Amino acid sequence: MNLVKAFFHFIFKIFKTKSVEIKHVQRLSAFDTVLIKPSIEASNDLLKYGTILIVKDGSIQKWARFICPCGCGQKQVISLQISHSPHWSLNTIGETVTLHPSVHVNGADGCGAHFFIRKNQIEWV
Ligand SMILES: [Zn+2]
Repeated sequence: MNLVKAFFHFIFKIFKTKSVEIKHVQRLSAFDTVLIKPSIEASNDLLKYGTILIVKDGSIQKWARFICPCGCGQKQVISLQISHSPHWSLNTIGETVTLHPSVHVNGADGCGAHFFIRKNQIEWV
């Protein structure tokens, strides 16, 4: 029994160390690409690290999608639809986007990243 326990402890330790290293190396300070696409064209293939994909049908903003800028690799989907709770508001200024309020990736599977996106810049909290 102790051996099993030790084994899992070992795996957990390795996982924890690795994810911290990745975060440290790859954490972004800005998104470099903004794509605005209708739902039918917004495929996962467009989602590169450093890209924000805005899904917009006609004049209706639906989703902001991006890979978590902390480096954890999780795909994030932020609702921009007023009928959803929670939802975020998104402003485009020129080629840049500002999202309000901040994004906090929490919950059971969340990496804990917490940041604002202002004019594509990521302001870590
Ligand atoms: Zn993350």
